Amino acid sequence: MNREHFGSKKGRVILVNPGIHLFPPLKNRGMYPNNAIQILGTILHQNKFDVRIVDGMYLSVDNAVHEILSLISEDLIFIGFSVMTIQVKWAYLVSSEIRRKCPDVKIVWGGVHPTLFPEQTVLDNAVDLCVVNECAFTIVQIANALAAEDNLSNIPSLCYKDNGKVNLTLPNQIPDDFTNIPYIDFSIMNHKLYSKNNVFAMDSSLNEEYKRQIAYPINASLGCNFRCSFCINVILERKYKMRTAEEIVERIEYLKSEYGANYIHMVDENFFGSKKRVYQFVELLRSRNVDIKWRPQIRADYFNKSYINESFVKELEESGMVIAVMGVESASQRTLDRLDKKMKVESITVALEILSKTRIIPRLSFMVGIPGETEDDIKQTYQFAVMLKEKYPLCQPLVTPFRLFPGSKFYELAVSKYGYKSPESLIEWVENADKEYCESVGYQNPKDYVWVANAKKFESRHKIFIMFKTASWSLFPQLIKKDIKSKIMHYLKLLIYKVTALRIKNEFYQLNIEYLLLELFRKGRNIIQNIK
Ligand code: SF4
Repeated sequence: MNREHFGSKKGRVILVNPGIHLFPPLKNRGMYPNNAIQILGTILHQNKFDVRIVDGMYLSVDNAVHEILSLISEDLIFIGFSVMTIQVKWAYLVSSEIRRKCPDVKIVWGGVHPTLFPEQTVLDNAVDLCVVNECAFTIVQIANALAAEDNLSNIPSLCYKDNGKVNLTLPNQIPDDFTNIPYIDFSIMNHKLYSKNNVFAMDSSLNEEYKRQIAYPINASLGCNFRCSFCINVILERKYKMRTAEEIVERIEYLKSEYGANYIHMVDENFFGSKKRVYQFVELLRSRNVDIKWRPQIRADYFNKSYINESFVKELEESGMVIAVMGVESASQRTLDRLDKKMKVESITVALEILSKTRIIPRLSFMVGIPGETEDDIKQTYQFAVMLKEKYPLCQPLVTPFRLFPGSKFYELAVSKYGYKSPESLIEWVENADKEYCESVGYQNPKDYVWVANAKKFESRHKIFIMFKTASWSLFPQLIKKDIKSKIMHYLKLLIYKVTALRIKNEFYQLNIEYLLLELFRKGRNIIQNIK
């Protein structure tokens, strides 16, 4: 095809941020497309490709297909999906419908799921090519090769069908870092939709302040300097790379002046990995008088006498830090050690004690159902989460069932010791999605937790915890308005919180009437939303 005709643009690339089949499309909420879509879209745009982003988090499968079809042009090079396992079904339904309607269009999948299962993904008729692991370095090469219909065999980390055979090219030796990852060019997406009523700003807001917040994300680092054995950063061997404090503050100043940003979501998984950078960052915000709210992820054990102590935590609060998002994983030391977390359970309470001197919200995520965990390990974690909420009212504890990733030692254990069998084809993953555990989207069906001693209890306890979490996270006295409806809602939540806390502490999970009521409430709300 002669591309001169299309002026300076090299051709169109449609990037799709898949939805999640169990989630209704978002309405009145801002959530940016995943990081890969933003980064790759920016790189392609900078290299003169005509980038279009379709955001499945806001679209049903049918509407997404409709929107993609409307964007398919004569100069289309490929449609790219960045897929996590929880998005497989949605991405598959859209890809196969596009394949059916436009058989010649090239469909490329990248992201965590195809990286873990490239061969089985590309064997499906809905997918032409899988990009394995990071590809900021190769995306332009890929787009150029597909546009020119060139041979792909010289481009690293690709998996594709060739005459019915699956070809996997050599691994990419040049990992992505900040020499090839630019800051996001927000002009390629509907950023005004994402920046308002932003979900991350909302969940770190103690009152209705989020309504005034204009949120933008920053990639201040990639990967992590720890080696927790369950973590996707470790499984995919991602290295830790950081932007400097100066670069981050300059970027914040740019986002403020260009878009009016007043809330920054640090997308990094370990913003506090370098003490020196953190001290410089806080000092720069102060000396340059940068008025901003910011949200980082942080390890709980960074709260200690020699790093984030009672004095420095106040500086963090003054600099605008509003929440501390911590992956603390377990209240069982045995489990933390098995996860190679390199952290003591006591660090969690130390962190909360230090944070309690401020209004910074502690967000804690725990995991349960790790192969080899005992019933006692699991019980300890739920009860610890409840205890923390009671002692530190601002704290937001979240417990979720563990998801197995191939490549981790827990996956090997699940297969060798417990006879676990994961889906063997893309279509099996799609069918598996129908059985997913709806209350923990992205996690596995309780029946798949073959290593959990008491699967029934595992499920019923978690359902009670869902009620506990739903009620307790939004119990801020500041939010009670004077009207009668708000007061009733507040006391209803308080009642559910107290009852569910009691249940978890006393291990009483029968007669879960609260959960049935929640289900009824959700169904009613969905019906009303659909009518609107
Ligand atoms: S500290 Fe967090 S991001 Fe880093 S390896 Fe461990 S789980 Fe992964």
